[in-house]
Amino acid sequence: MNLDLTEEQIQIRDTVRELCQNEFASHAEKWDREDDVPRWAVDKLAELGLLGMAVPEEFGGLGSDLRTTVIVIEEIARVSAALAILFAVHNSVGAYPIYEFGTDEQRKRWLPRLTSTDMGAFSLSEPASGSDASALLATAVKDGDHYVLNGSKNWITNGMHAWTFLVFARTGGPGPKGISAFILERDTPGLTVGKCEDKMGLRGSHTVTISLDDVRVPEICRLGPENEGFKIALSALDKGRIGVAAQALGVMQAAFGEAARYAQQRQAFGGPLSKIQAVQFKLAEMERRVQGAKLLIQKAAWLKDTGQPCTRAAAVAKLYATEAATWVTHQAIQVHGGYGYVKEYPVERYYRDVRVMEIYEGTSEIQRLVIARSALKDGVGV
Ligand SMILES: Cc1cc2nc3c(=O)[nH]c(=O)nc-3n(C[C@H](O)[C@H](O)[C@H](O)COP(=O)(O)OP(=O)(O)OC[C@H]3O[C@@H](n4cnc5c(N)ncnc54)[C@H](O)[C@@H]3O)c2cc1C
Repeated sequence: MNLDLTEEQIQIRDTVRELCQNEFASHAEKWDREDDVPRWAVDKLAELGLLGMAVPEEFGGLGSDLRTTVIVIEEIARVSAALAILFAVHNSVGAYPIYEFGTDEQRKRWLPRLTSTDMGAFSLSEPASGSDASALLATAVKDGDHYVLNGSKNWITNGMHAWTFLVFARTGGPGPKGISAFILERDTPGLTVGKCEDKMGLRGSHTVTISLDDVRVPEICRLGPENEGFKIALSALDKGRIGVAAQALGVMQAAFGEAARYAQQRQAFGGPLSKIQAVQFKLAEMERRVQGAKLLIQKAAWLKDTGQPCTRAAAVAKLYATEAATWVTHQAIQVHGGYGYVKEYPVERYYRDVRVMEIYEGTSEIQRLVIARSALKDGVGV
């Protein structure tokens, strides 16, 4: 595995870093306070073509590999985890599955808008099924050359403003083999966007419920073969999990940077905190976790980009990076003392933002199940 970044990757990283520092950094605290990432921020991403990261150029995208996408997620998350999840969900599980699993007709119908202006969302979770996603209850019943969908979906990131929802519904018997995927447009009659969750962190990213009441759509809205939708969900989640790991990496680097800066400024016992070995040890542990997460994320993305199985590596990267981010942001507050507990310093926001990363796109417990099953079946350490 070659970890060197290509010229192109360095150029995209530096361009996005500049955009984040110049345009977004000074607004991140306001987005959190007002619980709203404004449309102009999405427009800035769109101007650079970042709404179509992995989608090939012929459908309006940049045709980038996953390694490049995760570098962009990491850069955005350094300044705003709320904007990073918006970007990551749209690209990894909103738009790209339409390219990967769609026909040319479907690609032409939905991708040009999704790569230029409009947002995509991913709707797998339901009120009664999260970790046990294949127990979902939403139904899609065939009626001639149409399907009629009914059910409820919740926890839908980007749902407030999304144009398309990639919805998973039951077309066959129980379990994963009876599920199909559908692309539903926001204004389809019967699709109602419900309440926006009042979250602990990631404030500014809108998480909503939707209800489907006799939503009637033509066959072209079914993505992939009937009853094979769950494979699409799992494939999208492999990429999505590497993206969540990159979100965690971005925030933990920001928290580490703040902790290091504060430790050099704050005076105690006749000198800066950074001269105290106990504080230095915390900073060293932060560095260890940042480096570890970075390597695991790049490895998982490289496996994906080179067409190799990446499910275990994605789970390892997500589990390690998100738990590391929880630890790093917790310790960053500790280094700040009381000042870390108030909104005047960004570490308070970082701590709230990373907490959910151990939950969405598969909890830490589910990642452990995925890793253990794979290690027991295919061997350890491979
Ligand atoms: C902010 C946010 C954004 C989200 N965005 C999306 C989105 O865009 N699209 C989408 O479809 N979903 C989304 N989700 C849903 C998310 O993926 C689920 O919340 C997650 O998968 C967990 O499901 P659950 O909340 O139903 O918890 P449950 O599945 O009820 O789990 C509760 C607890 O039990 C544990 N548990 C469950 N089963 C097992 C087991 N077999 N072994 C060990 N422990 C177990 C879990 O790890 C967890 O600790 C989002 C959630 C949040 C909070």
